[in-house]
Amino acid sequence: MHSPLIIAGPCSLESQDQLSVTVDALSRLPQVSMIRLGIWKPRTMPGGFEGIGDEGLPWVKTIKQQHPDLKFCCEVANAHHVEQALLSGIDALWIGARTTGSPFAVQEVTEALRGSTIAVMVKNAPVPDLHLWVGAIERCRQVGLSNIAAIHRGFDIYNNLGYRNNPLWEIPMELHRLMPDLPLICDPSHICGRREWIARVAQTALDLHFDGLMIEVHPTPDDALTDARQQLSPKGLQSLLENLVIRTTDENRAEIELQQQRRTIDTIDNQLLSLLSERQKASLEIAKIKKEANMTVFQPRRWNELLADHLRQAETLGLDPAYIKELFEKIHSESVRRQEEELVK
Ligand code: PEP
Ligand code: MN
Repeated sequence: MHSPLIIAGPCSLESQDQLSVTVDALSRLPQVSMIRLGIWKPRTMPGGFEGIGDEGLPWVKTIKQQHPDLKFCCEVANAHHVEQALLSGIDALWIGARTTGSPFAVQEVTEALRGSTIAVMVKNAPVPDLHLWVGAIERCRQVGLSNIAAIHRGFDIYNNLGYRNNPLWEIPMELHRLMPDLPLICDPSHICGRREWIARVAQTALDLHFDGLMIEVHPTPDDALTDARQQLSPKGLQSLLENLVIRTTDENRAEIELQQQRRTIDTIDNQLLSLLSERQKASLEIAKIKKEANMTVFQPRRWNELLADHLRQAETLGLDPAYIKELFEKIHSESVRRQEEELVK
């Protein structure tokens, strides 16, 4: 694996002084190659700091001149932001989560980018709908952008398990399967919502072959006007970066063991699939009997007993009953659907 792309910087650009102190500190960390800044801030609730806005753009121009080795990126959410950011000479843009969730807004932003060669990163929408993410990336492609990356910032679901946004790693992994050449960047700051968890999530992202990290850094995090709980100090970022393990993909011992375990998983998955197919055949035979006997497809008593029995077994097998319940609800509802189809034949 190449060294990951490290993007770091404040959630929000607050003042020229804050910018120069942050960038000076980050320029001393050799791993950091790009600075992030929120110039226009989309806030879920009204009344909070909504970003310094256009006033901050000349500060960005100045700091860029002082640090020619660093690249700078900011969030854009409408055509005005795009025009202003392009005029200021910023190196890359990102489409924020709330914007990705709104196809009209993505359309406006991407139309404003038509003909530009700037790099654009697309965050996932807050809802766990992969299509919104893919759709925004497709809209970027449609206007001719070719330097595109995706940023995984977690998903706002009912049970966030203490995260600000649940990582639901299977979603970025599925995006990677669909678009294997698209670079994937992880934003552990917005996933965690608290600085103590960021290093662990950053490490998981690298272990899952993410190509980079975007991390929020503020010179005095507790005073930050936005996202104070999750911003790291420059020192905090330094220690995170020094402790990150960047694994090689060489054919080493761990890799061989991993391959073996993966083959075991593949075999088990094949068995699961053929068992599901057997189960479906049996269920369709039952449908024929029910049709003959003029019975309803759904038999609540049978379903309750079956589920209770499976949950008891799950406990003894060391399986999480909530997981088994969800799994069998899916299996059962598919069985009911197929039986109903059979009955109306
Ligand atoms: C941000 O990057 O500061 C931000 C607003 O993030 P998100 O769009 O992921 O909520
Ligand atoms: Mn933020």
